[in-house]
Amino acid sequence: SDSHFPVPIAPSQVDYPSHYPEIFSPLDRVDGLRKIEFADIGCGFGGLLISLATLFPETLMIGMELRDKVTEYVKERILALRTGNPGQYQNISVVRTNSMKYIPNYFEKGQLKKMFFLFPDPHFKEKNHRRRVISPHLLDEYAYALAVGGIIYTITDVEELGEWMKSCLESHPMFEALTVQELEDDPVVKLLSTATEEGQKVARNGGQTYQAVYRRISGPIH
Ligand code: SAM
Repeated sequence: SDSHFPVPIAPSQVDYPSHYPEIFSPLDRVDGLRKIEFADIGCGFGGLLISLATLFPETLMIGMELRDKVTEYVKERILALRTGNPGQYQNISVVRTNSMKYIPNYFEKGQLKKMFFLFPDPHFKEKNHRRRVISPHLLDEYAYALAVGGIIYTITDVEELGEWMKSCLESHPMFEALTVQELEDDPVVKLLSTATEEGQKVARNGGQTYQAVYRRISGPIH
């Protein structure tokens, strides 16, 4: 249950030195220093973070994962990469948490530049749609955490879920779709189907994918 993992009471209480020890000494105060800018929600085994770490070496990123063992695996994976590649992979970390409850505990208003929802669990049955990580209500929270101009990336191999995520984003007043040209120009879009373990599995099986990539615009709530 949730009581098994600690939750920071506010974004200012997130323990940056423990996540990024080479970047923050324990005496550093987080205020005014670098903050986490990318969040991979339901990061699974961490493949996306690992690809992004070297593509954006100056950006702090975090994976949020509900499963304890998976989170521990990602931690070990990052530590091994740091040891094997001195100076690299210092900008990525992972935390075990329930992203559907605790996003506001981790990120301030407008803090994030990118949020990722790659191959989320489908929750097929109508009565379980409330468990989906993209929903009209949760998009309000994501819009709050994202900077204006920030981007939300979603992809799935489940057609119905792909349509659901797209329609939630399309209906939301604070998101607009990237144009075809913008999608082509964004190097991160290519990683959606190739960088994660789930994406690689789908590709191996020749499965189709459905993506929705939207930008946070300034809407009624500023
Ligand atoms: N994004 C990864 C990928 O593409 O390989 C993992 C995809 S996997 C199908 C979905 C992941 O989301 C699982 O690892 C699951 O534990 C995690 N998850 C589900 N609900 C979550 C929640 N509320 N908070 C954090 N992680 C969650």
